[in-house]
Amino acid sequence: MPHCVSPEAEKILDKKFKVLDKGFVRLVDYLGGDGRIVQAARVSYGKGTKTLREDKGLIGYLLRNDHTSPFEQVVFTFHIKLPIFVARQWIRHRTARVNEISGRYSVMNEELYVPALKHIALQSENNKQGRSLKKTSVKLQKEVQALLEKGQKDAYRNYGILLKSNIARELARINLPLSLYTEWYWQIDLHNLFRFIKLRLDPHAQLEIREYAEVVHTIGEKVCPTAFEAFDEHVLNATIFSKSEMSALRNLLGGKEAGLEGKPFERFAKKLGPQKLP
Ligand SMILES: Cc1cc2nc3c(=O)[nH]c(=O)nc-3n(C[C@H](O)[C@H](O)[C@H](O)COP(=O)(O)OP(=O)(O)OC[C@H]3O[C@@H](n4cnc5c(N)ncnc54)[C@H](O)[C@@H]3O)c2cc1C
Repeated sequence: MPHCVSPEAEKILDKKFKVLDKGFVRLVDYLGGDGRIVQAARVSYGKGTKTLREDKGLIGYLLRNDHTSPFEQVVFTFHIKLPIFVARQWIRHRTARVNEISGRYSVMNEELYVPALKHIALQSENNKQGRSLKKTSVKLQKEVQALLEKGQKDAYRNYGILLKSNIARELARINLPLSLYTEWYWQIDLHNLFRFIKLRLDPHAQLEIREYAEVVHTIGEKVCPTAFEAFDEHVLNATIFSKSEMSALRNLLGGKEAGLEGKPFERFAKKLGPQKLP
């Protein structure tokens, strides 16, 4: 089989997808696609090419059954511009290859992330890692936004003063804030991209990285739509039930009460969604 070419991916190659106020994600290149996944899988089964319907079935089967290695045969290279605090979370996904702009070599641009007013919120009362969903006063949101911008301007002005005095760039940059934008090339295979998207699209992930994960998902499905359809079905929108939750499910299906209480019940009900439970 020759190179896998996805017409939809070809259309968006090099196109910048805007994220946050100044960031973007751009697909630089890709290797493989749906066809490569089935091709690689069939090598292990020793069978030839089949119809599209059978290919779709095979991709679903592989994903459902954790037969993950054929998905590693698809590789993406992205160019991403993102605030440093998002990059700090992103870089924890170690199964990728990264090349980042160097603040020792280059002068960093005055491009800093300022959250939109609607995204400025108080600390969540029940989630130590998140922001409150309660409405915050616009007055407070404006004050916070102005304070953040002032801090950014001061830090960047001082950076300029140090550069002008010919202080080494590697030192001049050390007080620049986490809101400063950085850029990198990020190369990852589809198996690990799925993991990144699953973790970073989760409501527990920070809103800013979630926005990037959404765009990465949109781009990824242009390269291998069938694999993404299977991922959405079997991984992204699926969940794992614990042993006790399975027993609760059986109880409910048998017309009984779930048999869970307190926090375990809350967690279980959250997984099931908005319907009322007995
Ligand atoms: C909502 C959220 C909150 C988080 N909060 C924190 C936090 O407070 N502090 C913090 O430090 N991190 C935090 N993380 C990061 C998290 O712990 C993971 O490091 C990150 O999500 C990357 O996941 P990963 O290790 O599966 O990905 P990858 O690094 O891409 O690895 C993929 C898989 O490869 C295997 N692997 C990779 N490297 C190794 C290795 N060295 N040894 C063995 N197996 C390996 C593992 O099976 C791993 O699951 C958070 C993540 C999320 C999504």
